[in-house]
Amino acid sequence: MNCIFCKIINGEIPSSKVYEDEYCLAFKDLNPAAPVHVLVVPKTHIESLDCVNGENIDTVSKVISAIPAVAKEAGIQNGYRVITNIGEDGGQTVKHLHFHILGGKKLTEKLN
Ligand code: 5GP
Ligand code: ZN
Repeated sequence: MNCIFCKIINGEIPSSKVYEDEYCLAFKDLNPAAPVHVLVVPKTHIESLDCVNGENIDTVSKVISAIPAVAKEAGIQNGYRVITNIGEDGGQTVKHLHFHILGGKKLTEKLN
């Protein structure tokens, strides 16, 4: 499958790793939108949160459970924002579920 994040997970494409466990990998975003900008992705290919189902919910839940550890490893101390874009109108460019972890400054209140 021609998926950038699957290639990062299997080591074909290098990344700056922040956290890893059995279910997920977290690495720095190539184009940071905040002083800290980390992506957390499941190690198995799930297209987006719109594809969550009974088969993959355990994996998705493990990925979400890892977010506090990811934020800690990334050095975030005063709160952060989690975003997941879905599909065309949601602005999703990489079709492998990922949670953006943004922090390291007071973020704007704007959500769109
Ligand atoms: P999306 O727009 O799909 O929610 O977010 C995709 C994110 O992946 C973007 O913020 C983009 O900067 C990041 N990205 C795309 N390609 C790469 C890559 O090869 N390495 C890393 N570390 N980030 C990437
Ligand atoms: Zn993938």
